Amino acid sequence: MRILVQKFGGTSVKDLACMREVLKKVLRECERGYKLVVVLSARAGETNRLLALAQEWSATPDPAECDSLVSTGEQVSTALFTMLLKDCGVRARSLLAFQAPIITDEVYGKARISTFDQKRLLDMLQEYDVLVMAGFQGITRDERITTLGRGGSDTSAVAVAAALSAERCDIYTDVDGVYTTDPNLCSDARKLERISYDEMLEMASMGAKVLEIRSVEFAKKYSVPVQVRSTFTDAAGTMLTKEDKTMEHVLVSGIAYDKDQARITLRSVPDKPGVAAGIFGPLSAAGVTVDMIIQNSSQEGLTDITFTVSRKELGKALAVVEKVRLELHGMEVLHDAAVCKVSIIGVGMRNHSGVAAQAFEALCKENINIMLISTSEIKISCLIEEKYAELAVRVLHEAFGLSKSPLSA
Ligand code: ASP
Ligand code: MG
Repeated sequence: MRILVQKFGGTSVKDLACMREVLKKVLRECERGYKLVVVLSARAGETNRLLALAQEWSATPDPAECDSLVSTGEQVSTALFTMLLKDCGVRARSLLAFQAPIITDEVYGKARISTFDQKRLLDMLQEYDVLVMAGFQGITRDERITTLGRGGSDTSAVAVAAALSAERCDIYTDVDGVYTTDPNLCSDARKLERISYDEMLEMASMGAKVLEIRSVEFAKKYSVPVQVRSTFTDAAGTMLTKEDKTMEHVLVSGIAYDKDQARITLRSVPDKPGVAAGIFGPLSAAGVTVDMIIQNSSQEGLTDITFTVSRKELGKALAVVEKVRLELHGMEVLHDAAVCKVSIIGVGMRNHSGVAAQAFEALCKENINIMLISTSEIKISCLIEEKYAELAVRVLHEAFGLSKSPLSA
């Protein structure tokens, strides 16, 4: 049995006209002889509408009831779409999480899939040619409905593809693939034919929001070939695959940026064991995710520590830091939310040096000051003033020749 998983996002199923486009994509793969699991999101705007309803009813909506509510968006999409398939004479049925079943933990609002009954799904695929599965939802062992977190239908799709050893998981969306950078910022951005899971993780975690990050982690863990493509064109999309030798020839694959950054600097911090733990421990306990961290060399036993957090969490982080400040006499706290992180990503960096120098030079030519730098094997990130974000992305894209075909350089 050749199995393909197709996932369609909210904008692809938003109305009847869009669903008819989805229908064409599904029928085409049926004609090619595939058995299909079609994973659908809620119709565009629906999840937000339901979340707003919950807030209207209660200032602190019960998490389990909230999941029971928001998961209905996907139920509507799958039922409506299955009607279209049946009208075309396709052997199809809709499938909710509890019917699959897709078992998750009990973390309402951000549950993790623990098991999939693949035997049951395979049996159903004997009887049906298309299973239309509700994305985003799961069920606990106690039979309570859960949801997987915003954008979670991508994860549902990749997980079902992994469980059924599907030939491929096609994620249909309103963009036609993964680009070398945000095409809205840089008209030269080029669609990538292929990208490795690790590069995609860096791109996704840094503002190139094409795929939900957990789905990429899942795809990497189970080596699921994933294709990101458009519902509204027939063009091939971008393939996410395991890293291979040819990928190393390309030094830089993409430039990502993230404006959801705020910088906090702690001045005159005593430079002694336990101080960093005394700052980052309470931040983590308060649920604040810290991104970049840098500590200066110390002078006369004092040092400066700078780190970044999500802008949404700046207030919470400052409250935590204020408590620490009261304990550490003389420490000063500065903050700035008008910052942006620009990152250069490429598995080719593993075997090449000089990328950082080239990047810094390109930024320097435009007089863009770098406040913080962090690096990993396949990424260099620079924190800069937010007003230079677009310019920085464009000059880096240009400096690494990303608008040209990757192997022609
Ligand atoms: N409907 C959910 C959301 O809007 C899940 C998804 O679309 O992937 O986040
Ligand atoms: Mg999405």
